[in-house]
Amino acid sequence: MEKQDKKLVCKDCGEEFIFTAGEQEFYEEKGLEHEPVRCKECRQKRKAERMKSLEQLKHN
Ligand SMILES: [Zn+2]
Repeated sequence: MEKQDKKLVCKDCGEEFIFTAGEQEFYEEKGLEHEPVRCKECRQKRKAERMKSLEQLKHN
């Protein structure tokens, strides 16, 4: 069946975001069963924060 873009609500900011058909296919390919819970922005923010704390660990 053809996939369709899905509207999801971000867990962090509460904004709606689109889980595109392409992304759904990517998730399936990777064997990920769960839909994303955060929008792209929040995901990037979290990633940046994680990188920052890793950097700090390195410097300590
Ligand atoms: Zn968000």
